[in-house]
Amino acid sequence: MSLNLDKNFNWFNNKQTPLLIAGPCSAESREQVINTAKELKKEKVNIYRAGIWKPRTRPGSFEGVGSIGLEWLKEVKQEIELPVATEVANTSHVEQALKFDIDILWIGARTSVNPFAVQEIADALAGVDIPIMIKNPINPDLDLWIGAFERFNKVGINKLAAIHRGFSTHEKTIFRNKPQWQIPIELKKRIPELPIICDPSHIAGNRDLLYKISQKAIDLNFHGLMIESHLDPTSALSDKNQQVTPNDLSKIIAKIIIRKTKSSDNQFKIQIAELRQQIDNVDEELLNLLCERMNIAEMVGKLKSDNGVTILKTARWREILRNRTQSGEQKGLSKAFIIKLLKAIHQESINRQASVMEPLN
Ligand code: PEP
Ligand code: MN
Repeated sequence: MSLNLDKNFNWFNNKQTPLLIAGPCSAESREQVINTAKELKKEKVNIYRAGIWKPRTRPGSFEGVGSIGLEWLKEVKQEIELPVATEVANTSHVEQALKFDIDILWIGARTSVNPFAVQEIADALAGVDIPIMIKNPINPDLDLWIGAFERFNKVGINKLAAIHRGFSTHEKTIFRNKPQWQIPIELKKRIPELPIICDPSHIAGNRDLLYKISQKAIDLNFHGLMIESHLDPTSALSDKNQQVTPNDLSKIIAKIIIRKTKSSDNQFKIQIAELRQQIDNVDEELLNLLCERMNIAEMVGKLKSDNGVTILKTARWREILRNRTQSGEQKGLSKAFIIKLLKAIHQESINRQASVMEPLN
């Protein structure tokens, strides 16, 4: 998979530290937008964000100040000298944002889920040299997310970044939108040069989890963070539980440990090489054991075939799941992991058993 990306574009930071995008969920008044920006400028924020048009779950709640807010963002850009970003969800938003020289546009999660909307926005931006950040779609569909990048790339936009803001789920979790880290990790694997930013605010839904999620993203080598910040979060017109004051934002950022991706320390290099060797050995053993298990499965299949017995034995499979999960959990492995692993092993065993079944005459 390859996108044609502008690798020299630095997203308004020096790349020595993670990119920091911050600002209110919504622009509410000129005073709020300007005063928040002044505070965030002191906190070394690289890009100022504010929603002008807000996609709300229910009609009747605050739906954004509309295009008047673009004038305030332009003032932030010119007077406070912070690059500004806002969300666009249709062609009219695009036209207005371009008219007010907004530096960066982002596509929200409720828009990236819809290829028609993404295509329309991309078409409205054909020939315009503007950076675009694309939030993950609300459902965990990596191809849909990648499709959105391709649509923008096809119209010539090569300054692209991804934003991981978590996924909507029916499960009861501590998050507003569950972070499924394996999805941005897979995105990075498929498009290594695409910067990925984490939005802990919309993942968390509350202030208390912001630090933990931010640290995790930085540990996973994310390019930066987008965090919502409001001068008085309790009176915010949208997302009040997850916004932090500029001062609290700077405390969160100061606490984040930035680990190196490499170390030239010799002792470290020796230790890591030893540990990797151990992992290689264990993996080899695991493969041998799996091979042994599959050979036994084949023998079981043959025996069943000779005796005219069907392959799948639901009670036995349930029993395996139950006691292996119990045993694995006692050993400190997570239930979700054991179940996933057992399902894969079970499927392969069934395939192997089926491969030795004689067709019935
Ligand atoms: C936002 O950034 O304010 C927003 C609406 O986010 P999302 O699209 O991730 O819900
Ligand atoms: Mn928000």
